[in-house]
Amino acid sequence: MHSRKRRLSFSAFPGKDLVSIRIDVLGVGFDNLTMDEALGKAFAFMEGRNAAYAVTPNPEIVMLCREDRALLQAVNSASLVLADGIGVVKGAKLLGTPLKEKLPGIDFAERLFLPMAERKMSVFLLGAKPGIAGLAAEKLTARFPGLIIAGTSDGYFKEDAPVVAKINAASPDLLLVCLGAPRQELWMQKNAPRVRAGLMAGLGGAMDVFAGAADRAPERWRRLNLEWLYRLKAQPSRIERMAKLPKFGFAVLGKRFLGK
Ligand code: UDP
Repeated sequence: MHSRKRRLSFSAFPGKDLVSIRIDVLGVGFDNLTMDEALGKAFAFMEGRNAAYAVTPNPEIVMLCREDRALLQAVNSASLVLADGIGVVKGAKLLGTPLKEKLPGIDFAERLFLPMAERKMSVFLLGAKPGIAGLAAEKLTARFPGLIIAGTSDGYFKEDAPVVAKINAASPDLLLVCLGAPRQELWMQKNAPRVRAGLMAGLGGAMDVFAGAADRAPERWRRLNLEWLYRLKAQPSRIERMAKLPKFGFAVLGKRFLGK
């Protein structure tokens, strides 16, 4: 067993004791945090072990929230709401309430893994097609020696109970929930009272990337804030989903200039 004392001494990130302010972007309240502050908060939640959950909405999810009250409620009830991508950051700026920075969910997880590995903390990988979480486990243990993979489970289950029982037997510090939106947000909200874990994080397609089954945009594209375009190029079938992006832009402009 790894000692709780060692974990509690963690104070490398500044966000630990920070009360963060939420910035409203079309009804979704985003935590106004830097990446380091978000990591600090994540460690505090892992220490608290209340199965708090983090969500990472992008403009597409914000637009889904406007059509789906249950999703909006699940997102706004999260303990951490991170602005996944430049669209949300630009939207917040246009609305006159800028966010400190973009906090892509996949970067958030990767930045958590290193200090977690140093402290021999554990992660359970839930989601994606059968076999993918196992592949991700292999790749992550190779990349982050010391990180404990507490278990894996694919995302195509019908009943929650056996999955929750498997997670609870492993009792991980971090539970990645990669079921895609809105399933992952609704799943985390519904199961938070019975899941034994430090923090849950809903990360969509990140598991496929960790497993090497999907590519992430190269650094240059990311620096130019063109990750969304790279994903569209790699997976043209996303075009329908991405039609929500201009709608998000118009909705932000409407809110900014017409107040609705
Ligand atoms: N997925 C899942 N169970 C489901 C539906 C989807 O595990 O019932 C997985 C899917 O295999 C993929 C991820 O959820 O790995 C969703 O990926 P997507 O690219 O849609 O998510 P995004 O990152 O865009 O939110």
